[in-house]
Amino acid sequence: MKANDYTPFNYKNIRMPLSLRLKIFYVKKFRRKNKELQRKFMKEMGARRRFTEERSTIQWYPSVESSSCSSCGVCVDFCPRSVYEKDGKGRAVVVNPYECVLLCRGCVPKCPSGAISFPDPEDFKKYVYYE
Ligand code: SF4
Ligand code: SF4
Repeated sequence: MKANDYTPFNYKNIRMPLSLRLKIFYVKKFRRKNKELQRKFMKEMGARRRFTEERSTIQWYPSVESSSCSSCGVCVDFCPRSVYEKDGKGRAVVVNPYECVLLCRGCVPKCPSGAISFPDPEDFKKYVYYE
């Protein structure tokens, strides 16, 4: 999967009730530009998301290639979960790995240097289901 393939509504192979799948289909197909509706929907999805194991045992979090990082700070400002902080030289470092939302890769396409990477999401879908 390429970095810009990221979509918050990528639900394939994740266990999810039909009602939620239909809502995703509707939002993707007919309400793609309605950011307010999308925010509400993401909130609902977050509330219904469950993990098969403790989050602290699931190794899903970003890695930063420090030699590629240009210290722009975009990821630090962007991540709503404060996963990153700046080190003494302004480069991004991962300080709260388990705060990273499982299967989120929202910061990857924001990085202008391509310095952020994640493990293969396919290996982690088995940990997520929705009530
Ligand atoms: S967005 Fe990329 S280049 Fe900018 S601080 Fe984060 S990792 Fe470094
Ligand atoms: S993937 Fe999402 S939650 Fe994880 S560090 Fe990036 S923006 Fe934050």
